[in-house]
Amino acid sequence: MSTLFTKIINREIPASIVYETDHVIAFNDIDPQAPVHILVVPKKEIPTLNDIELEDSKYIMEMYKAIREITKDLKISEDGYRVITNCNSFGGQEVFHLHFHILGGKKLGSMLCSK
Ligand code: AMP
Repeated sequence: MSTLFTKIINREIPASIVYETDHVIAFNDIDPQAPVHILVVPKKEIPTLNDIELEDSKYIMEMYKAIREITKDLKISEDGYRVITNCNSFGGQEVFHLHFHILGGKKLGSMLCSK
């Protein structure tokens, strides 16, 4: 069964898409935690950060290229932003399709890491 994010890639469920290439898609998070909260997703179902293989390099490189271009377009690259990937249970991962959260648009607080 395909992941939630593959369904977005295949236009089976709607999303506010802000960027797309052959290997990557990016869309606004449905529950934004900052003025800018965008998810950058590879068009390959890599479940977690633990599952990235060398052969996935083109996806990972394009994800970073997407971050650079999106943040530049939104004019938040100079002020700065945060990129987060949650991994598995302790990391708080909910969707098991690799993704980077881009958070920005305001001065962010300290890293979320409650004791
Ligand atoms: P994570 O906890 O790192 O797996 O993050 C999953 C993220 O996906 C959360 O920030 C959710 O708000 C977001 N999300 C869940 N469903 C959707 C959706 N249909 N469209 C956009 N973002 C979503």
